[in-house]
Amino acid sequence: MIDLRSDTFTKPSPEMLEAMRHAQVGDDVFGEDSTVNLLESMTAKMFGMEAALFCPSGTMTNQIAIKCHTNPGEEIICDKMSHVYIYEGGGIAFNSGCQVKAIEGSRGKIKAEQIIENINPIDIHRPTTTLVSIENTANRGGGSCYDLEDLIEIKNACIKHQLPLHLDGARLWNAIVYKKHTPIQFGEIFDSISVCLSKGLGAPVGSLLLGKTTFIQKARRIRKVMGGGMRQAGYLAAAGIYAIENNIERLSDDHKHAKMVGIALQKKDFISNILPIETNMIIFEVSGKYTASSFADYLKGHQILCIPISANQIRMVTHLDVTGDMVDKILHCIDLA
Ligand SMILES: *Cc1c(COP(=O)(O)O)cnc(C)c1O
Repeated sequence: MIDLRSDTFTKPSPEMLEAMRHAQVGDDVFGEDSTVNLLESMTAKMFGMEAALFCPSGTMTNQIAIKCHTNPGEEIICDKMSHVYIYEGGGIAFNSGCQVKAIEGSRGKIKAEQIIENINPIDIHRPTTTLVSIENTANRGGGSCYDLEDLIEIKNACIKHQLPLHLDGARLWNAIVYKKHTPIQFGEIFDSISVCLSKGLGAPVGSLLLGKTTFIQKARRIRKVMGGGMRQAGYLAAAGIYAIENNIERLSDDHKHAKMVGIALQKKDFISNILPIETNMIIFEVSGKYTASSFADYLKGHQILCIPISANQIRMVTHLDVTGDMVDKILHCIDLA
């Protein structure tokens, strides 16, 4: 099977498993797992941030960040297609007792002016706006990436209005590789950053939350409350260290593969509105001889899996378990459709 459903379907390579098997471990709830400590310190350093916290998932790092930045009854500004808003099970309400001011961005990206317009005035009738959260790459934007100038404008707006700024960077390394940005540039802009090891980087489990030392101390307490304190987590952290050391630069191969698939799709008259392909995602509309589900069935008949994300839209994601030969096969099947 060629699995284009998500970059979460990657399995650890033999080399990654070997690194996991040799990990030094301890009880991380007691702060004694040296491999987790190393992963946290190396990632914080990479982004020029003070500290980091290893968590089981990106949902948990996002939700912990939101909890740390807010109090119940407050309001968070984000794009209406944000993962934190639409794909985390109502966690903002459940964990933090906050509500969302969801704004209409462009391919999942919002602008500084929109944020400023949506900050509530000081008025006892209105929830206090206390956080801005953005996503890079933007998942429902088809893996779109922010320009650095736009992020700096957002940062300046947040400083002016004294609002902390969180980044859901589940696929931040894809954006960094595509835009030729550096992690340090992101560390300078954001108060907190969540990055995932289990997406394009190919680790089986794990995300990191980055921020100031005092923020991460508070986050560590909330991680425990949420049941996310793990014991000999160094086996998982070792996979993360391996992923960071070996699987970042190669993300450009995934981006190249996604473009090739996009070009093949473009030639078909039953396919339209392919979102611009920047990183490892391809989102497109199907009409005419196929519906989204019948085109997905056609591909499945050729051992290619993808996900219909609405009645007429399909998403495909390239990743490190999709090889060049597999891409050739995908292109061939699209040609024959
Ligand atoms: C995958 C993802 C997350 C985190 O998901 P988990 O499955 O909880 O690790 C967060 N934000 C975005 C944009 C994602 O794609």
